[in-house]
Amino acid sequence: MDKSGNGHVWALDQAVDLLISSRYVIAMTGAGVSVESGIPPFRGPGGLWTKHGEPPMDVYQRFLADPKGYWEERLKAPSEIVQALAQAQPNAGHAAMVELEQIGILRHLITQNIDNLHRAAGHRRLAEMHGNAQLLRCIACSQRFAKEAITIAPHDLPPRCPACHGIVKADTVHFGEPIPPEVLEVCFRETRQADCMLVAGTSALVYPAASFPQMVKQRGGALIEVNLYETPLTTLADCSLRGPFGEILPTLVEQVRTKLTA
Ligand SMILES: [Zn+2]
Repeated sequence: MDKSGNGHVWALDQAVDLLISSRYVIAMTGAGVSVESGIPPFRGPGGLWTKHGEPPMDVYQRFLADPKGYWEERLKAPSEIVQALAQAQPNAGHAAMVELEQIGILRHLITQNIDNLHRAAGHRRLAEMHGNAQLLRCIACSQRFAKEAITIAPHDLPPRCPACHGIVKADTVHFGEPIPPEVLEVCFRETRQADCMLVAGTSALVYPAASFPQMVKQRGGALIEVNLYETPLTTLADCSLRGPFGEILPTLVEQVRTKLTA
């Protein structure tokens, strides 16, 4: 941002031009876009793990060793995050991203969030790297199910897959659990096609998410960053828009529309 204070306006114009002129735009989002929907982050000040401590690194192994115990724990009183997830609504930024998809600019979205907010806003083409807290998944055949589709009987745990009788768990990817390979494959396939990536609400420090913006850059593509803060990606980005996701995205998309119809 330049010292005259016009840097932000200039970066916005640049972002609009990049979105319009690029051949294949994808996006990646992280926890920062959900904070404005009332979902507390895991890390940092006020984060759930800062307050309650990080979960053990072997949650998945514990689940595999004792799926019944895992489910008994899940069916107890809901945790702070479960309550926040149940109440959260998509914000204006989620809606703007849906619009960007509908006008044919945004081809795909990779999200690190488990909160279902992009889907709830109406987003169609997305890969949820860390799963979706509103869904359940069979560990044998990888099918995903709405919670209502699975019988959860407290006297007969763990619940079983209606398709293959495999053990069912939350779709959320736990500590110690690999990202489902078919999801990762979609992320890599989309990233290879992209010549522009919009990265919002994430510093993309954790692999494999960190590799996607780097891949786009290495292949000569452009990066647009939307974040409240400067991040390690900022120096790599072609333009950085500093501010709340719920304000920046609607402004950005409005300007894209205006320019497209001009
Ligand atoms: Zn199954």
